[in-house]
Amino acid sequence: MPATLDEALGLYAQAPEAVPMAGGTDLLVCWPEHVDRREQTYLDLSGVSELRALRWHADHVELGALVSYWDVLQDDLAARELPILLQAACQVGAVQIQSRGTWAGNIANASPAADGVPVLMACDAIVTVASTRGIRQVPLAEFYSGYKRLDLHADELITSIQVPRRPRDVQVFHKVGPRRAQAITKVGVAVTRSQEGWRIVANSVAPTVCRCRHTERLLQEDRPLRGPGALQEALQEDVAPIDDIRSTAGYRRDVLGRILYHALSKG
Ligand SMILES: Cc1cc2nc3c(=O)[nH]c(=O)nc-3n(C[C@H](O)[C@H](O)[C@H](O)COP(=O)(O)OP(=O)(O)OC[C@H]3O[C@@H](n4cnc5c(N)ncnc54)[C@H](O)[C@@H]3O)c2cc1C
Repeated sequence: MPATLDEALGLYAQAPEAVPMAGGTDLLVCWPEHVDRREQTYLDLSGVSELRALRWHADHVELGALVSYWDVLQDDLAARELPILLQAACQVGAVQIQSRGTWAGNIANASPAADGVPVLMACDAIVTVASTRGIRQVPLAEFYSGYKRLDLHADELITSIQVPRRPRDVQVFHKVGPRRAQAITKVGVAVTRSQEGWRIVANSVAPTVCRCRHTERLLQEDRPLRGPGALQEALQEDVAPIDDIRSTAGYRRDVLGRILYHALSKG
């Protein structure tokens, strides 16, 4: 249990097989069934106070790797400038999970159903990772290369997430689940628009949370949409949903078009 980031990186360099732990809400949920995981070495980051900072800079806001959903829900400036983060945060689990779970843990867990990742990606977030070898920054939209495959080496930790500050006249996150709390997303979408253009990011419809670039280009043309069906051709190119325990591919495809159309009508 390191007390500083330098100590954390040093320990991790010596034992890259260790499992970093932030809030523990993804890691510990499987302990009752996977007894072997209790025998692993964990690198508990919760004592590294420098990772707790939520700092506003002139051109970006920085979320340290221990910043929780609750921290963002309590931040007045975030409520004004980045309401889309709060829309996602208040739908993650319930209050207990929101107060322990971190945005960085959500990114590193790399679930296609993650709710924090789509809103960060729709805001062009950058991930800062560090090891004893140095520091790198990677756009979140380029962080995943396949199911649970991420651009993070064995000795690297996520240290912070940078979200650019810029005017965004559309910020909407829609999550469809079986109930209003403690629900894993069946299909979700985050939508923003800024001078950089549209960002459409969907979750639970591909092996990773994914930017829907064909759909973004369609919206960039600025032609009127006659209904959800007008989005389907572009969305087909962007997503690859599957049937699983929570939903079917057909439902996900259909509902994604509808919630996106609804989000655009609201925006
Ligand atoms: C009841 C329940 C409900 C939930 N509901 C939702 C939901 O609605 N939406 C949703 O998206 N998620 C949900 N989750 C999943 C989880 O709460 C989130 O993914 C959360 O953001 C994980 O953060 P954490 O800090 O707890 O991560 P941890 O469990 O500590 O870690 C998660 C993963 O990230 C790695 N990791 C953590 N920090 C770092 C770091 N700094 N650098 C490198 N790797 C790191 C860990 O090694 C691990 O692989 C739920 C979980 C539970 C138990």
